[in-house]
Amino acid sequence: MIQLKNIERYFSNGNVKNYVLRYITADIKKGDFVSIMGPSGAGKSTLLNIIGMLEEPTAGEYYFMETPVHTLSEKQRIALYRTHIGFVFQAYHLLDDLTIYENLETPLMYQNVKASERKARVAEILDRFNMVAKKDLFPAQLSGGQQQLVGIARALIARPQLILADEPTGNLQSKQADEIMHLFQKLNQEEKVTIIQVTHSEKNATYGNRILQLMDGEFMDE
Ligand code: ADP
Ligand code: ADP
Repeated sequence: MIQLKNIERYFSNGNVKNYVLRYITADIKKGDFVSIMGPSGAGKSTLLNIIGMLEEPTAGEYYFMETPVHTLSEKQRIALYRTHIGFVFQAYHLLDDLTIYENLETPLMYQNVKASERKARVAEILDRFNMVAKKDLFPAQLSGGQQQLVGIARALIARPQLILADEPTGNLQSKQADEIMHLFQKLNQEEKVTIIQVTHSEKNATYGNRILQLMDGEFMDE
C-alpha cells in the first residue's frame, strides 16, 4: 500500500540543512498495523505527516496505492488523502462550535457527498459508536475518551483504507486508552483498515503487528 524510497526531510537554517529524516525506506502492506516509535524529536510526526501527504519530503519517492505521490500537484494530493486517509490526532481536533453530528458530517461535505447520503452515513456511525444520544452535544460536553471516539468516528466516516494516528491516546487515562486501542485492533482485523500510529507507549504498540523504530531521523533495523 505504501512504499517509501530514500525519503529525506530537512529544514534549512541559512546554508545549513538540518535533517529531520534521512534514508527512510519502508514498505507498508494493506492490513498492517504499524507503530512508529522513538524518542522525542526523532522525526515521528514529520514522517506521519509525509505519509498523510500533509508535508512534502525534500527528496525521495513515495508511492501510495501505486500512485507516485512525489509527482502530484497539491490539489491532486489533497484529493487523494481525502478519499483514502483518515486522520486521528492526540488533541482530537474537533471543531468546538459544531455539534458531534456536524463534526462527523464535515469530511463528507469535503467529498461533496449529497445531503441524504450524509444523513444516512452519520446516523450509521453514531449508532455504531453508541453516540446517538450525544449527537447534539458540543465536544466540550464530552470526556476526553468520548471526544477521541468522535475523532475516530470522523476519521472513519469517509471509509478510508488507511488511518493515521499521532499519539491517539496521549491525552487519555489508561482505561480509555485501552478502549481506543481495542477499537483500532478491531478495525484492523475485521475491516482490514491499515493503521499507522505514532506512540510512546509500549503497550499501545503491542496491539499492532509491526514496530518501526526511529532514531535521529533514521530507522533502526526491524
Ligand atoms: P517527533 O514527532 O519524533 O517528536 P518531529 O517530527 O515533531 O519529531 O520533529 C523532529 C525534528 O524536526 C525536531 O527536532 C523538530 O524541532 C524539527 N522540526 C519539525 N518541524 C519543524 C519545522 N517546521 N521547522 C524546523 N524544524 C522542525
Ligand atoms: P509532537 O507532540 O509531535 O512532538 P511538537 O511539539 O514537537 O509535537 O511539534 C508541534 C508542531 O510544531 C509540529 O507541527 C512541528 O512540525 C512544529 N515544530 C516542531 N519543532 C519546530 C521547530 N523547531 N520550528 C518550527 N516548527 C516546529
